[in-house]
Amino acid sequence: MQLNKTEYKPKHNYYDVVIAGGAMIGTGIAWFLISNKDFKGKILIVEKDPRLEFSSTSRTNNSIRQQFSNKLNIEISKFSSNYISNFQSFMENDERIPEVSFNKIGYLYLANDSQKMKVLKKNQKLQNSLNIPTQIYDQNSLLEKFPYLNNTELVGGSYNNFNEGYFDSSIILNWWRKKSFEKGVEFIKNEVVHIGLKAKKINTIYLKDGSKINVGNFVNATGTRASIFDKVHSLKIPVEPRKRYSFIFKSEKKLKFTLPLIIDPTGIHFRSDGHQFLCGFAPEIDEPVKYDDFKVDYKLWEEKIWPILANRIPLFERIKLVNAWAGHYAFNTFDQNGIIGPHPEFSNFYFANGFSGHGLQQSPAVGRALSEQIIYNKYKSLDLKQLSPKRLVEKKPFLEKAII
Ligand SMILES: Cc1cc2nc3c(=O)[nH]c(=O)nc-3n(C[C@H](O)[C@H](O)[C@H](O)COP(=O)(O)OP(=O)(O)OC[C@H]3O[C@@H](n4cnc5c(N)ncnc54)[C@H](O)[C@@H]3O)c2cc1C
Repeated sequence: MQLNKTEYKPKHNYYDVVIAGGAMIGTGIAWFLISNKDFKGKILIVEKDPRLEFSSTSRTNNSIRQQFSNKLNIEISKFSSNYISNFQSFMENDERIPEVSFNKIGYLYLANDSQKMKVLKKNQKLQNSLNIPTQIYDQNSLLEKFPYLNNTELVGGSYNNFNEGYFDSSIILNWWRKKSFEKGVEFIKNEVVHIGLKAKKINTIYLKDGSKINVGNFVNATGTRASIFDKVHSLKIPVEPRKRYSFIFKSEKKLKFTLPLIIDPTGIHFRSDGHQFLCGFAPEIDEPVKYDDFKVDYKLWEEKIWPILANRIPLFERIKLVNAWAGHYAFNTFDQNGIIGPHPEFSNFYFANGFSGHGLQQSPAVGRALSEQIIYNKYKSLDLKQLSPKRLVEKKPFLEKAII
């Protein structure tokens, strides 16, 4: 959904909240703020690429899972799945809003050794205690449940399809944007290039066109570029762009089954995508890339991914690549989890960064949480303090074993 006209200049010289980055996370925060009756201020979103062409949001795989190893990540995804399933009712029952398609195909984690199996079993215990009905399968029962798998080198797996699968995130993003706009949120094409700090607060932000804006609060929702202001506020935000490939393919032999999102021990993951299939993979050398490097390594598909797919699902012996793209994770090198909340020193400077591969599904919970921090100076619904930037200073990583 494009706005009618691209605006470059803000209407005012002061905003209660300025958000840098207008993709899934920034827009979600704006919506949760403006739709809260206790918020009375003005909001400006500054986005350098309003088509979001190079954002993670536009290149995502749209999947959501409950199978995390950390209780908080499970609680975040529980809220998100409820939000996705009942989107219209969360959006003021606005009758213009369609249902969000949510294909609950489930996730299947596969293990090829007893150590990995132990981790899956431990995660299952926690997930079950939080009413997520994940089940464990051994090598034989895996084949009974998923007869298309080659289970020879596997020892088992864990599977759940309750509120797990993939969903149409564009409906959520478009309606967050449209309704925020209708309630007065301003959205401009520009770039925040510098921030001004005074007396332990951010008071000014500077835009690429040379103009400046006075701010009550500032939110950094700049995705892969989250560390751009580090020099000014001297907290190192450990986020860098890391490439991730997505391949869409067809199978010559028809499968009678819908594939869950299968996380193979080799590191690839794949699932049904309508009548086709989607496979995701990281480059062999996973390192930071240039912001404009979206080149796809087709050799990887031919030489590495295809053989793995054909080994795991023998029916995939003959498959045809239909489409491929590269996207960037905003990769948090410290602990691969979101960095959410106020700066340890500058209380009106908020972060919503470093989501690595699970920011899309976390966006409703993040939007709600940061809006509460800004309005009430505390979390009211779900306490996200464990994900605070403070942990970077304290060197206490947020432990999550189920990273994809
Ligand atoms: C290939 C791939 C697959 C993924 N699959 C999943 C998945 O299945 N499930 C899931 O939950 N997550 C997934 N993710 C992660 C998810 O897409 C991201 O975590 C999420 O989209 C992050 O949203 P964001 O708004 O933080 O960042 P982005 O979408 O990157 O948006 C940041 C925005 O900030 C703008 N910006 C940057 N700097 C400035 C500035 N100085 N001034 C103004 N604007 C600025 C950029 O132009 C950009 O539009 C995937 C990511 C990739 C790349």
